[in-house]
Amino acid sequence: MGASAASPADRGIGWRFDNTYARLADDFFAPTEPARVREPRVVVLNRPLAAELGLDLAALPPEAAAALFAGQELPPGSRPLAQAYAGHQFGGFTMLGDGRAILLGEHRTPAGRLVDIQFKGSGRTRFSRGGDGRAALGPMLREYVVSEAMAALGIPTTRSLAVVTTGETVYRTTPQVGAVLTRVAASHVRVGTFEYAARRGEATLRALADYVIARHDPQLAAAPDKYLAFLTAVADRQAALVARWQLVGFVHGVMNTDNVAISGETIDYGPCAFMNAYDPATVFSSIDHAGRYAYGNQPGITQWNLARFAETLLPLIDADPEAAVERATSVLTEFPAVFERYWLDGMRKKLGLAAAEDGDAELVGALLGWMQTTRADFTNTFRDLSAEQLPADCRYQGADFRAWYDRWQDRLRRDSQSASTAVARMRGANPAVIPRNHRVEEALAAAEAGDLSVLHRLLDALAAPYDDRPGRDEYRTPPADERGYRTFCGT
Ligand code: AMP
Ligand code: MG
Repeated sequence: MGASAASPADRGIGWRFDNTYARLADDFFAPTEPARVREPRVVVLNRPLAAELGLDLAALPPEAAAALFAGQELPPGSRPLAQAYAGHQFGGFTMLGDGRAILLGEHRTPAGRLVDIQFKGSGRTRFSRGGDGRAALGPMLREYVVSEAMAALGIPTTRSLAVVTTGETVYRTTPQVGAVLTRVAASHVRVGTFEYAARRGEATLRALADYVIARHDPQLAAAPDKYLAFLTAVADRQAALVARWQLVGFVHGVMNTDNVAISGETIDYGPCAFMNAYDPATVFSSIDHAGRYAYGNQPGITQWNLARFAETLLPLIDADPEAAVERATSVLTEFPAVFERYWLDGMRKKLGLAAAEDGDAELVGALLGWMQTTRADFTNTFRDLSAEQLPADCRYQGADFRAWYDRWQDRLRRDSQSASTAVARMRGANPAVIPRNHRVEEALAAAEAGDLSVLHRLLDALAAPYDDRPGRDEYRTPPADERGYRTFCGT
């Protein structure tokens, strides 16, 4: 175990660390201590999440919380390390690893769940390459806001437990306030971890696969074709996840294979953003010039990423290479149909439909076509449709929309459920509040200037996205002009 400068003290928090990942062979990680920082200060603590994890932060003095979440005082039982991995970034293969993240280990929650506790922005590691290992306050708060919004929407995601500033300056295009995010995840094992292990040889690969199966798919441990079943399970989780993204207009922005979690959680909130006007070509990332990770490309890219994953598993799937390829391919070719099933089921919920009918995909397609032509706001259109009565808006008076609307009403009448059931169903599937870019940016700018009230108001609204609370119109209004809006990577 790495010797920490400060002695580990639980301080009554209730940490229950295990170190399952650290028990893998040592080519999977590099033991790494968080860097010393000048003046840690808490910006935001996620108390509801702490409670869910069985962590009692109530009695913790602010300085102790700051020291803890800046990695200055390590929890007892933690064993800090940087994970090794590789990845395909914008299509090209690279050796990577945690360049600015440190895993403390896995904490056991009161419900018995094992969760990774990881610092992001806590200093250089063996894998930092040219980077400084640090993170700036704005991007860490952005991850906090958007990941917590995703969790409240019910979408699988890593969570954010805390953001602290370090008292150090981080140099990007301009000097920034340094910060550390504490991330909680089902695990940080990615497709890229398998790409790394596969290149280290079959024994390393098998050790990783067995570890991950035990952790995420224990029911498969004794399955006859367990590695093929594992590939199928991972593909299924990705299909379900990306369908959820599409259904709320979430654009991840950097779907490299090192950002695809085997657990099926959304991970890595860098250049992500929610779409306003419906357009499949929507892309926000400043470095995604070709639109590789545009909204409409996300399902196809997921299949591409799963193909990279499948390639790593081939030697485990079948000793005969040709048979292995054939069997893996059969899983991958299923992907579009599996995705479509999740997506259409979700769209039915968004339109208040209970039973499936043959023309449903066409009905949804017609609505999306109208939305694209009129540049209708994706979130607000579905929320408007979820009202007892459609709002008086000139958009909804046009002949094209009326024709679609009548067709949808006919379809609803054929569905064997009451109108109020359909409305309730829709209101639980169509959020009123999403983290719109301009509101997120506004909250981050205020926080960087020392005013946290805007951030807390936003977090409060995002915590109950399906509720109709008065006074939240500011979060529902799309920006007057979103052209030119860009998010940035590597900040
Ligand atoms: P991302 O695009 O955020 O998934 O990051 C890709 C890789 O770059 C990961 O291996 C990160 O750990 C690494 N990285 C990003 N920013 C930094 C930084 N400031 N210092 C060192 N490594 C970094
Ligand atoms: Mg990443």
